[in-house]
Amino acid sequence: MIEKDVIIIGGGAAGLFCAIEAGRRGRRALVLEHAGQVGKKIAISGGGRCNFTNVNASAANFISANPHFAKSALARYTPADFVALVERHGIAYHEKKLGQLFCDGSARQIINLLLAECNDARVEIRCGCRVRRVERGDKFRVETEQGSFASASLVVATGGLSIPQLGATDFGYQLARQFNLRIEPTRPALVPLTLPAATQARLSELSGVSLDALASCGGAAFRENILVTHRGLSGPAILQVSSYWQQGEPVNLNLLPDTDALTLILERQDSESELANVLGRHMPRRFAQAWCKLYAPPKSLRQLTEREIAALAAKLQCWQITPAGTEGYKKAEVTAGGVATSELSSRTMEATRVPGLYFIGEVVDVTGQLGGYNFQWAWASGYAAGQFA
Ligand SMILES: Cc1cc2nc3c(=O)[nH]c(=O)nc-3n(C[C@H](O)[C@H](O)[C@H](O)COP(=O)(O)OP(=O)(O)OC[C@H]3O[C@@H](n4cnc5c(N)ncnc54)[C@H](O)[C@@H]3O)c2cc1C
Repeated sequence: MIEKDVIIIGGGAAGLFCAIEAGRRGRRALVLEHAGQVGKKIAISGGGRCNFTNVNASAANFISANPHFAKSALARYTPADFVALVERHGIAYHEKKLGQLFCDGSARQIINLLLAECNDARVEIRCGCRVRRVERGDKFRVETEQGSFASASLVVATGGLSIPQLGATDFGYQLARQFNLRIEPTRPALVPLTLPAATQARLSELSGVSLDALASCGGAAFRENILVTHRGLSGPAILQVSSYWQQGEPVNLNLLPDTDALTLILERQDSESELANVLGRHMPRRFAQAWCKLYAPPKSLRQLTEREIAALAAKLQCWQITPAGTEGYKKAEVTAGGVATSELSSRTMEATRVPGLYFIGEVVDVTGQLGGYNFQWAWASGYAAGQFA
């Protein structure tokens, strides 16, 4: 039996960050990772460039049954703190848009940063180490394929269910259940939406064209590109609203977010041109044509009745589509839901009813919007637990 002060299950963003902080305090920290290497999700994140934080991150960018829970950790480890660390490691970065910071080079640089910090903090990392069982006596006893380990603190950083091919497991949730901790139902988030077959067939001509739109659903609205694909709806605005979408609800798309559609049509009401030509000046021409083929009567603007004009304007401003579902965990960037925040201290991430047991990162019911927020939560929650574990 090998004794440590802190055992961290999961060598992803949150687990490694927590280990660094615990190690810095002089705690003997051990990371157990079942995959062959740590940080696999970091490696593929942000299209290989890792959108490692967002300068605007605040609790408003996260979904959780308790919207206040993330505030404490986010305030104690901020995007500026992580940026300072990135700069200390000489990693060049840039803001792509909307406060999203990416490496100029490769996501691998962030993994190397974490490994270098782990090394400095004397963190031990064991890869290819599957945890079989956890028991709690006066300490936590962790049975693995590489032997038994014991520690006073156990940190669960096993992430969510997204992308099982990268090593995602439900082990963190199982462990929560073992200790009778409540779990908010999990669901794929930041995920493309699928359409009923009939809708998909109708929209096939719109497929492949992206469009700047305002997508809204479940009280949230995002202005970014949407994309109709041969499987359904995607693009950043759709991924964003997918996290707020509930089965059976429509998604509303404003195709002219900067323009009053009714005024636009009425200004050209005397024209012989068709709506598609007018819309083609405000959105990709192919999209305008395919959309009008679906919804506009085949006549000139002059021939449209007032009723038709009003209906078309309303549809352009609020095109309602009811998805059939999502593309699931295989395509989801994150998992919404998870270990209930009501079970955890927002200051330490420790389970209030199980002293010494901590949950951090995506396994917790705190889910970031698209744009570097999920990593900021991994750093901030890892930092918080790392000060106490
Ligand atoms: C394609 C993609 C791109 C993304 N891009 C971004 C981005 O650019 N910016 C951003 O902010 N977020 C991004 N995300 C989300 C982000 O990667 C996650 O939110 C973040 O990695 C969560 O960190 P974590 O440490 O909680 O979990 P993870 O990083 O998933 O780490 C969990 C670790 O635990 C290990 N593990 C699981 N089960 C066990 C077990 N039983 N025993 C031992 N180890 C176990 C896993 O192998 C994994 O290494 C992206 C996600 C995906 C899928």
